[in-house]
Amino acid sequence: MKILAIGRNYVAHIKELNNEIPTDPVIFSKPETALLRKNAPFYYPEFSNDIHYEVEIVLKICKQGKNISEKFAHNYYDEIGIGIDFTARDIQDKAKEKGLPWVIAKGFDGSAPISHFVPKSDFKDLYNIKFSLSLDGEIKQKGNTKLMIYSFNYIIAYISKFITLNKGDLIFTGTPEGVGPVKIGNILEACIEDKKMLHVKIK
Ligand code: MG
Repeated sequence: MKILAIGRNYVAHIKELNNEIPTDPVIFSKPETALLRKNAPFYYPEFSNDIHYEVEIVLKICKQGKNISEKFAHNYYDEIGIGIDFTARDIQDKAKEKGLPWVIAKGFDGSAPISHFVPKSDFKDLYNIKFSLSLDGEIKQKGNTKLMIYSFNYIIAYISKFITLNKGDLIFTGTPEGVGPVKIGNILEACIEDKKMLHVKIK
């Protein structure tokens, strides 16, 4: 399986990092070894001093597809979950300055904690899902899928023009504003609507 992610999908977050609103989605990937499942702890790596949380809704692809049209894209994912796109912001900032790839900044071990997945049919409106992230009990990020620049269906259609999607692939769909650093000892908790889905201790 593979993990794909969209870099800029919420206007307020693009502004907080002084990035430009893209004309096309910014896509990157993380290796499978980035995954943390079942509320496993995150071990702060020694190569960075500025690991940031980014909470994101994650789609799980349910069948293989290539060149999927936006109209049919909803048939290609059946479950959603929530994840954290941990980013070594110091490494990413250096890469951005030089126009270099984000592989290490975004793809290091443990950089993709994910929750369990729930059927998308559990949601009345996929484009009005609230989600949030708290750090040590204090809400830091609040998002709503109605604020996405690119819809789930658009993201699936766009990625599948270039990369075949397979059953089990995951797509991180972008973070709202409020990203920030973590420290050893912090506890992150992510919710979809009011349901706690993910718990990550920083060790
Ligand atoms: Mg992200």
